[in-house]
Amino acid sequence: MENRLVVHTARLDQEGETLEGEVDIIDLDEEFVKPFGGVRYRLTAQLFGTELLVRGRLEQDFDLVCSRCGKDFDTTVKVDDFTFSAAVEENQQEVDLTADARESIILTLPTYPVCDEACPGIEQKADDKPHFDDRWGALDGLKV
Ligand SMILES: [Zn+2]
Repeated sequence: MENRLVVHTARLDQEGETLEGEVDIIDLDEEFVKPFGGVRYRLTAQLFGTELLVRGRLEQDFDLVCSRCGKDFDTTVKVDDFTFSAAVEENQQEVDLTADARESIILTLPTYPVCDEACPGIEQKADDKPHFDDRWGALDGLKV
């Protein structure tokens, strides 16, 4: 897999060109954030004079750790509105979007990932006795 996201500008015009593929550009190796596979992209690149405009979608699969229950789960981080623009020099053959695409994905990672919106948090251990309100026990002990 390529490890750069590059737009070749030589044959671009205002009509634009659709770019699709997968590139290996997220080199995080954190204990709680593990990417797998590459960044899938579907972008439209247009050249207006010397101005390159690129818009589209990015997706990356991650293995994350739930901030409530601590379990691993897989999720796909999606950037629906990735936008990049840059001035292109006259003899410039390509523009490298790698750093911008990487940053967009990382900024879209959830700060407090949850495996499920309904995740109840850390499960009680099987041998934990259900917790009763002691005040009811006190009522049982009353001698009337
Ligand atoms: Zn969870």
